[in-house]
Amino acid sequence: MEQKLRNLSQEALTALGAAHTPEELNDIRVKYLGKKGEVTQVLRGMGALSAEERPKLGQVANEVRVAIEKALEERNNRVKEAQKEKMLAAETIDITLPGNRFGLGRLHPLTQVMQEIENIFMGLGFKIAEGPEIELDYYNFEALNLPKDHPARDMQDTFFINPEVLLRTHTSPVQARTMEKMVPQVPIKIICPGRVYRRDDDATHSPMFHQVEGLVVDKHITFADLKGILATFAKQMFGPETKTRLRPSYFPFTEPSAEVDISCFNCKGSGCRVCKGSGWLEILGSGMVHPRVLEMSGYNPEEVTGFAFGMGVERIAMLKYGIDDLRLLFDNDLRFLAQF
Ligand SMILES: [Zn+2]
Repeated sequence: MEQKLRNLSQEALTALGAAHTPEELNDIRVKYLGKKGEVTQVLRGMGALSAEERPKLGQVANEVRVAIEKALEERNNRVKEAQKEKMLAAETIDITLPGNRFGLGRLHPLTQVMQEIENIFMGLGFKIAEGPEIELDYYNFEALNLPKDHPARDMQDTFFINPEVLLRTHTSPVQARTMEKMVPQVPIKIICPGRVYRRDDDATHSPMFHQVEGLVVDKHITFADLKGILATFAKQMFGPETKTRLRPSYFPFTEPSAEVDISCFNCKGSGCRVCKGSGWLEILGSGMVHPRVLEMSGYNPEEVTGFAFGMGVERIAMLKYGIDDLRLLFDNDLRFLAQF
């Protein structure tokens, strides 16, 4: 009988070693220690034993029961631990997996070009001046030597809000406003970046576009100063090899006036698709401030002179990046914008 108990104990411990779930453990408990369990059965048979044998067997039976219970508890802890580990493993986040990428935002190519232009002129001692986009006819035209009946007004198809108020067609009104505010002080050395509006819409024109206007007013300012500043700008913007060329032109607010060309940065002047074979690219308009414009702002053209220039930011961006349709700059297509 004692041997039978020891065999049962061995059997139970082996079964426990192979159990992996709380259900299996419970089955084992019932099988050996339950009311109808095998160890219990053996104990019930103790009545047939002699008075000497009984305590000894009782002790063995107790040892077996304690051993099985202890093994059950240990095994139970291990099963629970294993289940917890399994659950944790299933819930683990694998930080080595590639994550979802978020596209990084970046500055619009026009903003980049605008900032580059601003930085170059600030490096040359210019300050930034700004003015309203909804402008008075007076500042947009009249103060710039364009009275109401002036034929050159047709050069700029204008969005009028009423006969006296319009969307500015260029950043030049900021010149007039600045001079009016500064008079009689000199020097004035400003650039005016901003949006302007014209009734125009095709591959090279947009009803809204950006200009940077420049103005210098001081004593003894000459055309050579204008040329020097613009040549320096062109070299910094398009590369140190860049040559500059001035062509006579007409603007109502400057006299004399000149268009400024740069040598084509693509073909270095030998002629290509970008410069349409000419070797030159037109980048801006400029000239000496018209004495009449100085006068209207209160300056004496006998005492001070000045020069002004204006460039289209879109045109510079298109040239710099080889963009052939202006409208791409306004479509907000990420496939396009992500290239800059
Ligand atoms: Zn070229």
